[in-house]
Formats: sequence, structure tokens, C-alpha cells
Amino acid sequence: MLSRAEGMYYWTVEGRKILDGFAGMWCVNAGHGRKEIADAVHQQLSTMEYAPPFQMGHPIVFQFANEIAKLAPGDLDHVFFTNSGSEAVDTALKIAIAYHRLRGDASRQRLIGREKGYHGVGFGGISVGGMVNNRKFFGAMLPGVDHLRHTLDIGRNAFSRGEPENGAELADDLERLVQLHDASTIAAVIVEPVVGSAGVIPPPKGYLKRLREICTKHGILMIMDEVITGFGRIGQPFAAQYFDVMPDMITCAKGITNGAIPMGAVIVRKGIYDTFMDKQDGIELFHGYTYSGHPVACAAGLATQEIYRREKLLTRAQETGKYLEEGMHSLKGLPNVIDIRNIGLTACVELAPRPGKVGARGFEVFLKCFENGVLVRASGDIVPVSPPLIIDKQQIEQLVNTLADSIKAAA
Ligand code: PLP
Repeated sequence: MLSRAEGMYYWTVEGRKILDGFAGMWCVNAGHGRKEIADAVHQQLSTMEYAPPFQMGHPIVFQFANEIAKLAPGDLDHVFFTNSGSEAVDTALKIAIAYHRLRGDASRQRLIGREKGYHGVGFGGISVGGMVNNRKFFGAMLPGVDHLRHTLDIGRNAFSRGEPENGAELADDLERLVQLHDASTIAAVIVEPVVGSAGVIPPPKGYLKRLREICTKHGILMIMDEVITGFGRIGQPFAAQYFDVMPDMITCAKGITNGAIPMGAVIVRKGIYDTFMDKQDGIELFHGYTYSGHPVACAAGLATQEIYRREKLLTRAQETGKYLEEGMHSLKGLPNVIDIRNIGLTACVELAPRPGKVGARGFEVFLKCFENGVLVRASGDIVPVSPPLIIDKQQIEQLVNTLADSIKAAA
């Protein structure tokens, strides 16, 4: 149980100090207890705690949308605010289908995700998602969804540093789905540029560029789900910039407000925005939440972006990521370690499962780390790390050493 947080640390209810090796849950990028964010939230609550997002507007939401648009690449210059990553994903999927319809291409309704993808817990997100436990309990989900093959290939790529060499050709799987369904039925493809929840899987070199080319060739929208990679996780504001691939939409959340106030967003290219706005009559996009563009979340977001800018946090992982890479790959050779993957300031160790007890070893490592004063996470037998972007070299050493001791203890 956690009761207090500051900088790189949590404190438990018993008063134990815990190094945060996971940025809360991939979200507290600027570290905990940032006074500027608390002050901005307080100020906004005292000025105007809420304003209706339908028919009415308020300045801070436009100000924040402009800040986000400035960070995003190319003509990704309009923002639709939501309250979580899951809502951002479902919003983006709906925008894709409605966009084609407005252009007179209403047969494009099919959505393509990817195995091992995680896109939140809405019906859209679990339908395009590819993690079995998030899907199997919830019936048939959305119709008309298909999946690309995933890109994890431990056989060929184990212990790669950064993007693995093998697997760009897996993007051609989209051609297979086009052959099967015909491009005229496909609205969009959604992928995480770096898979997060299923265990830090950087894309094979060239994969995303190839996927972009195939989307463009067939008029399919490309959505990058940057709920984890957005806001500096891999050394650029967005992964789209890191990989130099221009998606049609980006979904983001988490680091948008440093995790302080729930918020998500869909960033769309100008052409998509214009298509909706050119509609002659009525409501442009028949979709929105009571809390879309909530003024307090916008205030938290603006204060967060100011910290990122002032402390140059959105590119800091270019430096700190090197230490993390060195440290994590030094775990190679420890008992049961079958793969180590990393990119930017995130990495994971994949462990061989205990016979008949999948996930037990990963959870044991997670618990041992916590007992030894470090918060990581367990996703089955994969142990990912993703610390706040403010982490220093010594703290990275502590994180890696604690992980090493815990892996040995769980041998
Ligand atoms: N998309 C990705 C890539 C995520 O990692 C997550 C959450 O971890 C989501 C969507 C869902 O975000 P939320 O939990 O804010 O709904």
C-alpha cells in the first residue's frame, strides 16, 4: 500500500521508501509531487472548476490543444480531449469510420489491430487489442475486426538492443488482410509503435515505415497508440518523431498530465479535421464526454508541459536510456532470463515460466523488488521497467541491482 510520493520515490503506509521504477504506471514522467501542477490545479479549481464542452468553450482548452499540437509532428494539429487512454482509442476508431463515411467511402468500416496489442478496456480497444485475457471474458466484441501478426520473435531477436534487426517483413501482413477483406472495407490500422503492456516490444527496424507505406497505398488510416510512448518515453515527444513515421492519428494519455489528473487525447491530421468541419450542417462529430477538455485537467496538462519544456525531459531519455540499456543487458546470463528488450527509457526482462505456473516467477520478482525498495511491474513472466524521466544514473543502478538480486532470489 502506498501513501505518499515525491520525486523518484513512493512511501508505503508503514513509511518504507520505494524507488519508483515504473513512473506510477507509465505516466508520472516528471516525477512525483510537482508543486507547479498542484498549484495550477488549485488555481483552476478556484477560478472555474468546470465548463460545458458542448455548445460552449473556454480558453484554457484551446491553449492546451495548441501546446499539444505544437509538440506533435507535421500537420497533426487538432486535438480531441478525452479522460483516459481507453477513451482516446475508442474515439480515434470512431473518427476513422466517420471520416471515411463523410468522404463518401462508407464501406470502410473494418478496423485492424495487432496480436499482443493493448489499447485499453473499451469495447473498441479490446476488439482491436490482442491480449487474450483482456478479450476472452467479453463475448464477441466489435464485428469486422482483424489482427496483424505480432512482431515478437525471441528466436531470431533475443537480447536485441533497441529495435531488433529481424521482422520488418511482418508489416506485409497487412497486405494479407487486404487480400482477404479488400482495402475498400478497411477504415484504419491501430498499433502501439512500441508495444508496452504485453512487454516492451520495440518494432523491428523498418517495420513502421513499411506499415505506413502499405496504409497509404490502400487509403487506410494509420493510428499510432502513444498512450505509453507519448511525452518523452523513448527520447522524443512522440514515437512518431523517433521513428520518423507520420501517422494519421495519435492517441495519448498518461504523461499528458504527469498522471496527476485523468486525461487522454486524440491528435488528428488537418485533413481529417477539415473533412469533419466541411460538413454542411449539424454537429461535426457526434461524440463527446461530459469531461472532454476539463479545465482542471487542462491546467494540470499545461503545467506539466511547462515542466517538460523547462527541464528538457522529453528528450532526456536519449541520455538516460543508454545507462538503462547497459544496466538491463548486464542481467543477461542470470537464471531463467530468456530475453531483455529496451528502447528509450523503458526495458523489460523476460523470464522462463515455472513449469505449470505461468506468471508465478514474474510475480515473485516483482514482490522481491518491492520488498527491497523498488517498484517495477509484472506482466506474466515479463518484468518491465519504465521510471520517471527525471531518474539519475545512480537510481538506474539501484533499479538494475535490485532487479538482479530479485531474479536470483526467484531462481
Ligand atoms: N493504449 C495503450 C497503449 C496503453 O498502454 C493503455 C494503458 O496502459 C491504454 C491505451 C489505456 O489507457 P487508460 O488505462 O488510461 O484507459
